[in-house]
Amino acid sequence: MDQNKIPQATARRLPLYYRFLNNLNHQGKKRVSSKELSEAVKVDSATIRRDFSYFGALGKKGYGYNVEYLLGFFRKTLDQDEVTEVALIGVGNLGTAFLHYNFMKNNNTKIVKAFDTNAEKIGTDIGGVPIFHINDLEEKMTGVSVAILTVPANEAQSITNRLVDYGVSGILNFTPARITVPEKIRVHHIDLAVELQSLVYFLKHYPLDLD
Ligand code: ATP
Repeated sequence: MDQNKIPQATARRLPLYYRFLNNLNHQGKKRVSSKELSEAVKVDSATIRRDFSYFGALGKKGYGYNVEYLLGFFRKTLDQDEVTEVALIGVGNLGTAFLHYNFMKNNNTKIVKAFDTNAEKIGTDIGGVPIFHINDLEEKMTGVSVAILTVPANEAQSITNRLVDYGVSGILNFTPARITVPEKIRVHHIDLAVELQSLVYFLKHYPLDLD
C-alpha cells in the first residue's frame, strides 16, 4: 500500500497502536475490538476505525481486528522509519539502567554501543549492548551520531570534545556539568538531581492547593 496516503495524524498514532498490539500478541490474543483498543490507547473508536481503514484492516462486527495482520502491517510500516543508533558513555549506575531500559518503547532510537574505562566492564555486554574501552571511541563509533553522557562530571567536557571531533550531532547530557560545544551541535541537558530539587522547591513554595 502507498504510505504517502496515510495522513500524518494517523501515522503519529502508529507507534501507540503497535506497542499495544504487540503486548496483546505476547499474551496470545488473536483479535481485538476497536472498543478495547480505544480504552487502552485513549483514542476514540471512530478515529481508530478510520485509521485502520487506511491500513486495509476492516474490523468485522462482533469479531474485531486480527492482531497478527495489524502487527504485520505496523512492522512493515514502522521498520521503514530509520532507526537512530545511539552510543552511551559511562556505564555506571545510571548508564547501566539505560542499557537495560534501552528505550524499547521507542521504535526508532536504540543504544547500540557503550564505552567505559573500567576493565571489568569492557568486553562484556549489558542488555545486549557491547561495552568498549573509551580509548577505542573513534574506532568503534562507526556512524553513530548521537551520544548519551553518563560519566562523572569532571570527565564530561573532555569526552564531549572527543565526541564533537568525531562528528556526533547530538548529546544528551545526564552529568551535572555544563558542557561547551560548537554551535552546530545540539546538547540537551538533563540533571536529575536539579530536577528533583526543583520539584521539591515548587511543592514547598508553590503548592498546588486547589481547594
Ligand atoms: P552514576 O553516576 O551513573 O550513578 P557511578 O556512581 O556508578 O555512576 P561514576 O563515578 O559516576 O559511577 O561513573 C560512571 C561511569 O563512568 C563508571 O562506570 C566509570 O567507570 C565511567 N567512567 C569514568 N571515567 C570515564 C571516562 N573518561 N570515559 C568513559 N567512562 C568513564
